[in-house]
Amino acid sequence: MNADIKVISFDVEGTLVTTEFSYAIWFEMIPQRYAVRHGLEFEEATREIRKAYDSVGDQRLEWYDVQYWFTRFDLGRADIAMEMFQDRVNYFPETSRVLQRLGRDYKLSVASGSPRPFLKHLLRDIEHNFSSVFSSTTDFQQVKTADFYRSMCRRLGVEPGQVAHVGDNLQFDFNEPASIGIYSFHLDREGETGNPAALRNLEQLAGLLDSIKV
Ligand SMILES: [Mg+2]
Repeated sequence: MNADIKVISFDVEGTLVTTEFSYAIWFEMIPQRYAVRHGLEFEEATREIRKAYDSVGDQRLEWYDVQYWFTRFDLGRADIAMEMFQDRVNYFPETSRVLQRLGRDYKLSVASGSPRPFLKHLLRDIEHNFSSVFSSTTDFQQVKTADFYRSMCRRLGVEPGQVAHVGDNLQFDFNEPASIGIYSFHLDREGETGNPAALRNLEQLAGLLDSIKV
């Protein structure tokens, strides 16, 4: 273990849990309901929905807010609908094992861009491993910026240099936290970025933590 690191912070989607649940919400459930509501074929509904998503874009907060879309498309209550997709939450094979092991030596925390209504489902079976959960969009009304990470450290009562963060988005999980001095690890499960320093799975994290020299 690394005595200088107090907290390990984890991204959620693409890091601890696959994107299947969210994808099913955005690209199955919403278009299905939209199709029924507006009397369209599923394909046509999907086209219209995608156009609407694109018109907002992932830099704006509404994009992440499932109830915003339910209200905009007149689909009723998102929370009830989401409960029906709980079985689509899938953890990566090493997730539980790694959390258990690292939890013995470090405080574990979540830093996610997913809104809390999603985290409620995504973390259901692993939440007991974490002493705190931060949703940048729900709690701080922003994507995972350097500012978000600064606020997170303040709330955790630690300096950025006492935190390690891991996640699969180069901007939000690596560049932004690294810019304020958090030890940041980019997870690239498919090896898409060609970055030799990126982790391929969470198992590799423990060894790397030991190698950090402060
Ligand atoms: Mg992610």
